Amino acid sequence: MSLPPLREVIARHGLSASKALGQNFLFDEQLLDRIAGIPGDLQGRAVLEVGPGPGGLTRALLRAGARVTAIEMDRRCLPALAELGDAFPGQLTVIEGDALKIPPAELFGDEPYDVVANLPYNVGTALFVGWLSGESWPPQWRSLTLMFQLEVAERIVAKEASGAYGRLAVLAQWRSEAKLAMKVHRSAFTPPPKVMSAIVHVTPAAMPEGVSARVLERVTEAAFGQRRKMLRQSLKGVPGAVEALEELGIDPQRRAETLSVGEFVSIARALTR
Ligand code: SAM
Repeated sequence: MSLPPLREVIARHGLSASKALGQNFLFDEQLLDRIAGIPGDLQGRAVLEVGPGPGGLTRALLRAGARVTAIEMDRRCLPALAELGDAFPGQLTVIEGDALKIPPAELFGDEPYDVVANLPYNVGTALFVGWLSGESWPPQWRSLTLMFQLEVAERIVAKEASGAYGRLAVLAQWRSEAKLAMKVHRSAFTPPPKVMSAIVHVTPAAMPEGVSARVLERVTEAAFGQRRKMLRQSLKGVPGAVEALEELGIDPQRRAETLSVGEFVSIARALTR
């Protein structure tokens, strides 16, 4: 299928990048095809794309055979996306709106879906936390393939005892696998952002038994809220937590960033009981 170059689409529809909407577009079709390949074979699969913009990543997903539902806030992009829908009949549904306000269950019913997105940083992090939270597991999504600032991507995949390790790492790793799939140079975007980017790929893993997600979130929040303090101090506000450390043989003089994800899970399990 021959589609017009993305730069031409943008010029024809007058899509100057809006800073307020965090718009940094990708035009390199080879790079876009590689990103669309990260979740694996998408032929016939349902994909949620958040923030398609002029549709560069969208066309790569459609080329891969996905059935894409795309949520875009900027209505200026809709005519360009409609043209793309015409080129791939029956494969693209575009929804105008704020992805933070649209529950995916309304879009997919019970069908599992993969999420692929190149989003502004703040929106991406808020959606990411939402997709990883909640008591119900496994989630309805099969994988998350998301562009972040490199520094945020490193926080998501960080291991204990590194400076980047914190709440995001525990949230992303306690019942999922999170990998840094690809670094993307700032020059790949138009306009180029100030910092480097990277794509994180997350797939659900087994939920550890006997652990409430809410309790785990409470413990990590308290522990990393005062990350320089010893656990016996930072966990004081969580009833039973300091006693649980002793019961588990975890030295209360340690600091949050030295605890593995498994140790956080053990503490949360002791408190869930
Ligand atoms: N996916 C395109 C690409 O890779 O070239 C555009 C990426 S641009 C970084 C982010 C896109 O997300 C923009 O088109 C912007 O309008 C859209 N966007 C920003 N906030 C949004 C939100 N809350 N809900 C849906 N789309 C949003």
